[in-house]
Amino acid sequence: MSTLYFVDHDRGEITETVLEGLTAARAIDSAVAAVTVGAAGDGLADKLFEYGAAAVHQIHHDELTDYAPAAWSDAVSELATSVGATAVIGVGTDRGSEVMAHVAAAMDLPLVANCIDIDASNDIWEMTRVRWGGSLHERARLEASVKLVTIAPHSAEATPVGASGTVTEFVPTLGDGAAVTRIVDRVTTEEGITLATAPVVVSGGRGVGSAEAFAPLEELAELLGGAVGCSRVVTNSGWKNHKYQVGQTGTVIAPDVYIACGISGAIQHWVGMMASKNVIAINTDPLAPMVTKAEYAVIADLHEVVPAIAAEILRRRG
Ligand SMILES: Cc1cc2nc3c(=O)[nH]c(=O)nc-3n(C[C@H](O)[C@H](O)[C@H](O)COP(=O)(O)OP(=O)(O)OC[C@H]3O[C@@H](n4cnc5c(N)ncnc54)[C@H](O)[C@@H]3O)c2cc1C
Repeated sequence: MSTLYFVDHDRGEITETVLEGLTAARAIDSAVAAVTVGAAGDGLADKLFEYGAAAVHQIHHDELTDYAPAAWSDAVSELATSVGATAVIGVGTDRGSEVMAHVAAAMDLPLVANCIDIDASNDIWEMTRVRWGGSLHERARLEASVKLVTIAPHSAEATPVGASGTVTEFVPTLGDGAAVTRIVDRVTTEEGITLATAPVVVSGGRGVGSAEAFAPLEELAELLGGAVGCSRVVTNSGWKNHKYQVGQTGTVIAPDVYIACGISGAIQHWVGMMASKNVIAINTDPLAPMVTKAEYAVIADLHEVVPAIAAEILRRRG
């Protein structure tokens, strides 16, 4: 087996999700080689070795200045062919999914996306993958000369092994204009802790009642060093921008603590935060799914409970 793991990085920055994917790829092939595209990814080699990559391929080319999905995938598929890879694994992030879909098209091969469990012990791989936003687990079999799969985010815990390995450079033969779409400019709209990476998320639903009533949730999130999230009812009502939405059609998160305020826990919301390590529900309805599934629940009006928690934190901090 010769396995490549595509590393989704943004100008040399990676998220925990990428290391989770590498951990899962390492379980499939202990000799997995990580692939970074563009010189900006070169600095990641030590981190990738630490999380179990046995080798790192660094792809360099003048066209690969910033994220460019078609060019990145052309380069990855060319590398896969060049080294005789029998599998290319990515992680089901936005970019990981996009690049792997392009790789599948470029190599004219099937792709099995969002796998949570893979048995690669036989020539035909068997896997379980999540569909319908996590509400369906599907068993699939993959028969292909090169196996292309993505790992579902948060389906493995990133585990360092402290290994070392070799770095090799690969220069693909990309033609001029291979980067059909590329980033030419970017505007930072959010600084600091983001919903996707916050260790604590204080999230509000219909029960919050208005855009203005999110102020106590924002204060609590700030006190806890976290971020604010919300349900789709909130974005549909125009109380919050879609970038705050958690769920199937929003952001999928896995914070240490998720505080759900006035959120019923519909399946489309639940699949976006079910990987949270601890869930605290604040809800007036003791039978709301969020309450019955949560580790802790406060059955009360969130408009009283949230400010009370913030006041107690401030009191204890003096
Ligand atoms: C294809 C599709 C995709 C979707 N994607 C998403 C998605 O990505 N994310 C998402 O969130 N939803 C999504 N939805 C919508 C989802 O089905 C639910 O409609 C939505 O999550 C409900 O939001 P909510 O919990 O805020 O509202 P509700 O279900 O109305 O729940 C409000 C809760 O607040 C409680 N409450 C009311 N007042 C108070 C109070 N004062 N104090 C405490 N608790 C109170 C109530 O008891 C209730 O449990 C999707 C739906 C579809 C069909």
